[in-house]
Amino acid sequence: MTTPALSDVEFYIVDFDRTLVDTDKLNEVFIEVAEQYGAISREQIQKADADVKKTGDSFDTAGYVRDRLADEGRSDDWEKLEKQFIHESRSLNYLLPGATELLEWLASGGKRYGILTYGNPLWQRIKMTAAGFNHTRHIIMQQKHKGKLISGWQRSDGSFRLPEEMGGGSASRIVLIDDKAVSFDQFPPAPSVGYWVCDPAHELEAQKGEVPTNVTRHTDLTSLTDVL
Ligand SMILES: [Mg+2]
Repeated sequence: MTTPALSDVEFYIVDFDRTLVDTDKLNEVFIEVAEQYGAISREQIQKADADVKKTGDSFDTAGYVRDRLADEGRSDDWEKLEKQFIHESRSLNYLLPGATELLEWLASGGKRYGILTYGNPLWQRIKMTAAGFNHTRHIIMQQKHKGKLISGWQRSDGSFRLPEEMGGGSASRIVLIDDKAVSFDQFPPAPSVGYWVCDPAHELEAQKGEVPTNVTRHTDLTSLTDVL
């Protein structure tokens, strides 16, 4: 048996929201805690959330609540609220079906992987901590064009130079797993491949779109380890 050189292996990039975790559940629990602090009414946050979802952007729930508390001179309560949300989340499971199997498959096979997530850094960091991914390699992007970012890592010989946040080193190809079609815009061609994980029966406006030919669609993560 020979050990493949780093340049001969793939790197897996997994999206966070609605790919690995149930983002609606994270939002629900956060809103419940925020309500306990009198930081927000459910109506206020649901209206703001609906407005942003229409445009396909992630709503910065945490920033909204933090700013409201700051306006009321209650910045200390923000820290308490954040801690309580993370504490209450410890006993909850936010993972979507197949996520545990995917993560186990990546870990047991010694695969290199990281999370590439889009959204407000504060809210993304809090959600990742609440869901137990704060120690997983990750990049938080503030624009949604992941394919373009990944293409920027490609060298003229076709290999990829991975950023330090993803562990550095090289990869021969990238495997991207994401629920939004737009994430695959300008994604590198084969041998890199993409898996668009999105159930057509429950598709959100922000998830819809066209994907390149090296991207295949799956209803959820449960069947993914069979094809990876
Ligand atoms: Mg997502």
